[in-house]
Amino acid sequence: MNFENKTALVTGSARGIGRVIAQSFATAGANVVISDVDQAACEKTASEIGGAAIACRADVTSADDIDQLFKTVTDKFKRIDIVVNNAGITRDGLMIRMDEKDWDTVLDINLKGAFLVTKSAARIMMKQRYGRIVNISSVVGLTGNAGQANYSASKAGLIALTKTSAKELGSRGVTVNAVAPGYIETEMTAALPEAAREFFLSKVVLGRPGTPEDVARAVLFLASDEAAYVTGQVLAIDGGMMIS
Ligand code: NAD
Repeated sequence: MNFENKTALVTGSARGIGRVIAQSFATAGANVVISDVDQAACEKTASEIGGAAIACRADVTSADDIDQLFKTVTDKFKRIDIVVNNAGITRDGLMIRMDEKDWDTVLDINLKGAFLVTKSAARIMMKQRYGRIVNISSVVGLTGNAGQANYSASKAGLIALTKTSAKELGSRGVTVNAVAPGYIETEMTAALPEAAREFFLSKVVLGRPGTPEDVARAVLFLASDEAAYVTGQVLAIDGGMMIS
């Protein structure tokens, strides 16, 4: 896939899945905006990717940060073709013991953050009459998961946001899709207890954990012109976890 002359913004791309998505776009010729709440990590990642990658710190829960982010991107590249809503966190715990704060923080970053970014991106993409938005949901947004009431609700909300934005933006040449990764090895899943890791892996038909590259390949497809007639869809990248 060729992304020359395209500009791609990936939120939460200082590390993990977002970083590999950003690197993959850069390798395929795109200008890439590395955005993350962690400024130092953001700058380090952008300099390691090199080429046309720029770092732009933004907290996705701040409307002011997001306004500034899109201003910086359009000043520099004049357009924004691809946005990947990847920034996300977990604050796991059984629902009866879950703090209200842990509910709010996860919903703010994972869902409200994607709303703010999509809103800013949509204004520009509708004028361009071109855009590709890919949201990083999760299989637990489709199935639910004990211990993740906040996280699975945020990821289910992201799927509804995907379908709604696809309906609102489709007539202007903007597609909106989601991927639903299963168990992917990153720092986020490294924090899981061994029993949880074994439980997830026992459900993977392909018998191995996923890699950030597995997710990135699907994101690049959905952002490409090859996927021009695909919108409002959720593609599970889970090694068959959903069917077992
Ligand atoms: P990660 O923790 O390695 O990376 C997440 C990144 O988001 C970090 O760089 C972090 O600084 C950034 N971030 C956190 N809060 C932010 C904020 N307010 N504003 C901007 N950036 C912020 O996680 P990961 O495993 O790479 O996950 C990436 C995405 O994929 C997340 O949305 C996650 O929910 C989703 N996902 C991951 C898995 C998995 O198994 N790892 C499975 C399904 C979905």
